[in-house]
Amino acid sequence: PGGGVWARDNDRWQLFDKGGTLLGTADWLIVAGSGVAHPRWTNTFGGDPPLVAAIQASQLENDNLNRALEAIAKQEASPVLAVFWYCVGEEAKVWCELPFAVAQLSDNDVLSKVCVQRLESGACSVVLHSTKEFALQNTGVYGKSSSAARVGDATSDASREDLIINELLDALAGVNLPPVPDKCSYGPLLHRWGNAFPKGEALAEELSLCGNNANVAFCGDYTETDARMGSVEAALLSGTEIGNRIAHHESDRASGL
Ligand SMILES: Cc1cc2nc3c(=O)[nH]c(=O)nc-3n(C[C@H](O)[C@H](O)[C@H](O)COP(=O)(O)OP(=O)(O)OC[C@H]3O[C@@H](n4cnc5c(N)ncnc54)[C@H](O)[C@@H]3O)c2cc1C
Repeated sequence: PGGGVWARDNDRWQLFDKGGTLLGTADWLIVAGSGVAHPRWTNTFGGDPPLVAAIQASQLENDNLNRALEAIAKQEASPVLAVFWYCVGEEAKVWCELPFAVAQLSDNDVLSKVCVQRLESGACSVVLHSTKEFALQNTGVYGKSSSAARVGDATSDASREDLIINELLDALAGVNLPPVPDKCSYGPLLHRWGNAFPKGEALAEELSLCGNNANVAFCGDYTETDARMGSVEAALLSGTEIGNRIAHHESDRASGL
């Protein structure tokens, strides 16, 4: 199960869709999210994580890759449920007038953070973050349009999704915030990020590029960079870095080094 599957053929990676149709081939497989390599996959979708399955099926032996998989398996992630919406005009006014951009809530069972982003011409986006505890109580609920639902066929009860959205929205009154506008231009939508905020040791730089017979590279907020693990900055830096390292690796290989 899962979205597509990889295989090795003539030292190249192949990507197949769920129906077994070959979508394309590539010299390198770049793993831009740890989910496909983490045992967490098995709990969510069943079956081995796709990267582990591909390595086993192609009988790939690569020490660095094995060590990378071990390191990723030790990482944990704290889940977050977020509900967000975008509104304009009169509907946005009351939210734009609030005296904060980010409010951290320490004593609420449901809400941990409320972010208000004011945009041009009086529009605004609002994101409600759940507490970790609330997200843990509601594991197994995926947003209708999430990658978990689309890519991995994770099943989820849509009525539970609506209940969770309502619980987060209802919690606004308890912290003296206005209700969600009657008419939003977008949302309110549930974003369940089971893999949010990676914790533990970032994947070490020497393990994020596995050359030789494997040609697998890792990037994303779970890998080691100068930035904080679990941040947009870490994700961006690691992507740029791995691109440069692959280019060097290939040019060294071409010159026989
Ligand atoms: C609620 C919340 C608030 C945050 N706020 C901040 C903040 O204020 N500042 C900050 O710096 N960071 C923040 N972060 C963290 C930041 O968003 C992440 O660190 C960053 O987005 C990670 O980027 P990434 O590219 O490593 O991973 P992701 O953004 O998770 O990208 C991985 C991609 O892989 C896709 N994918 C997964 N599995 C598959 C599959 N099997 N097949 C195909 N595609 C797949 C996913 O859909 C996703 O698009 C926040 C995170 C959350 C959850």
